[in-house]
Amino acid sequence: MDNCIFCKIAAKQIPSSIVYEDEDLLAFKDINPAAPVHLLLIPKRHVASLSDCDDSHTDMLGKLLRLAPKLAAEFGCAVTYEADGTPAGGFKTMINSGPNGGQEVYHLHMHVYGGPRPWRGQH
Ligand code: 5GP
Ligand code: ZN
Repeated sequence: MDNCIFCKIAAKQIPSSIVYEDEDLLAFKDINPAAPVHLLLIPKRHVASLSDCDDSHTDMLGKLLRLAPKLAAEFGCAVTYEADGTPAGGFKTMINSGPNGGQEVYHLHMHVYGGPRPWRGQH
């Protein structure tokens, strides 16, 4: 897509701090982090939002969801459990869709936020 900033990041036409790449997906650090860890996970193939996805995007969406906890773990944000089962650590995932969803960049992306609270991206 012309003039899509995340397509340009995926094509390496503009720089970013890439933390993961495969055939279908790219993950990079948010330029304006709202948490100690703030990653953006995107499909390389342009799709504007979750509302624009169809059946051809189902595999990609599954891969995107599965990638989030893997990268969170790599950045020290996995959910862990104490001996008595009490959960600790963890991360937040967010996909904004459309103006009422707070979407600013119209190339589908999932935010992954982590690190000790409090941080700006928490709700
Ligand atoms: P949205 O509100 O669309 O869900 O979030 C867009 C996110 O993209 C924001 O958190 C913003 O900081 C991030 N962002 C916008 N432009 C760039 C850029 O050029 N590079 C990187 N790494 N992040 C960007
Ligand atoms: Zn795009």
